Amino acid sequence: MIFFIATKNKGKKKELERILSPLSISVISEEQLDFPLNDVDETGDTFEENALIKARAGCKATGYPTVADDSGLCVDALNGEPGVYTARYAGAPTDNAKNNEKLLKNLEGVEESKRTARFVSVVACVFPDGREFTVRGECEGKIAEKLSGINGFGYDPLFISELGCFGEISDEAKDSISHRGKALKELVKKLKEEYLC
Ligand code: IMP
Repeated sequence: MIFFIATKNKGKKKELERILSPLSISVISEEQLDFPLNDVDETGDTFEENALIKARAGCKATGYPTVADDSGLCVDALNGEPGVYTARYAGAPTDNAKNNEKLLKNLEGVEESKRTARFVSVVACVFPDGREFTVRGECEGKIAEKLSGINGFGYDPLFISELGCFGEISDEAKDSISHRGKALKELVKKLKEEYLC
């Protein structure tokens, strides 16, 4: 079965393809369609709602079973912010450099032990016959005091995981512990157990 990956975020798309392909899930993305997809308004208050909004829209537009990720960073010292507003923390359109700068500024003076945070990824899967479900993955870490590395995307140069800064560790290391890696493993398990038999 072929799944459509509904995302315009290149960093996310790369990870979704990279993690799903070895797990025997075939994926196509917007570039392989012969029509462009409209932007979708992420009007939900939760990662689950926004992931479903994106997956439903992708499924309706393409007719393929569709997978979409809604993700973000929840920082304890900022009462869980930026949360569902992570992509546009410093305003729209998304600007990774400005987002990282704003995060560092808002954490100025916060000591290392209190800079705890987690990345959250909720992946929604929607089928043309209306069946749908979501899975969630989380990855605990801390926010660094300065940027490190050039790997990954978004807030990766500021996120210190148990294996090191996401901006510095390999793709394989990130996928093995990341929020998205965990959510996608759950997705594949659920698909194999309940949907692809
Ligand atoms: P959305 O899911 O499209 O609303 O965007 C989520 C935002 O969270 C992205 O634009 C990134 O800024 C951030 N984000 C999500 N996952 C990651 C990750 O694995 N590394 C770095 N930033 C991420």
